[in-house]
Amino acid sequence: MERGYRSVAIDGPAGAGKSTMAKRLAGALNFLYVDTGAIYRTVGLAAFQSGTAPGDRAGVSALLPGLDIGLAHGADGLQHMSLNGADVTEEIRRHEISAYASGVSALPEVRAFLLERQRALARTHDVIMDGRDIGTVVLPRADVKIFLTAAPEARARRRYEELLARGQSADYPAVLRDLLERDERDSSRAAAPLRQAEDAVLVDTTGLSLEESFSLLLETVRGRLGA
Ligand code: C5P
Repeated sequence: MERGYRSVAIDGPAGAGKSTMAKRLAGALNFLYVDTGAIYRTVGLAAFQSGTAPGDRAGVSALLPGLDIGLAHGADGLQHMSLNGADVTEEIRRHEISAYASGVSALPEVRAFLLERQRALARTHDVIMDGRDIGTVVLPRADVKIFLTAAPEARARRRYEELLARGQSADYPAVLRDLLERDERDSSRAAAPLRQAEDAVLVDTTGLSLEESFSLLLETVRGRLGA
């Protein structure tokens, strides 16, 4: 399936540092970084824009055939997302879109719609892909699987600081509450729930700095890839 190309799957709950770490690992290993959460966020944004509730299965399913979701990797290594021709890279990071992404991603129709798209990227590139079900569903034969996590308070603190750094208003208790709700929804859904693959390496970054987390991950991934 992923013959010829190597793949690293990084799964874990919101705010665990998956995208920061995956981006840096991709740079160090010269792999393509694929942020699958951004793709679900783009579907969430489409639901938001059309006034469709994220849990409205029939309504969201009806939107899918009309969606033109673009994913482009710039020379900067960043993954730019577009929706029906408009660049939505920044917009999908808005706080309210997180809940929409989590809502639409529980729908089996949405997961089926995006599955092949994600696999195709791994067939044509060496990838570091992050998400919730990469090691369990999308790339079950990934060369390396990491389950990256941290205590909820540490994850909420990072998310909160990230929102402030983006110039968005944020309230720590609300960020923590939303993150716990999202974890619960992502873990308890029937379709591809968030869980650690049996053969994934568990990495908990609660007490670690960014640099310590990165060194640990790089060593783990290099060791497993034999690179
Ligand atoms: O990773 P991020 O927080 O940007 O993802 C947004 C939402 O998309 C998650 O809360 C989750 O519900 C959903 N998602 C998913 N499967 C993935 C990636 C993200 O269900 N592989």
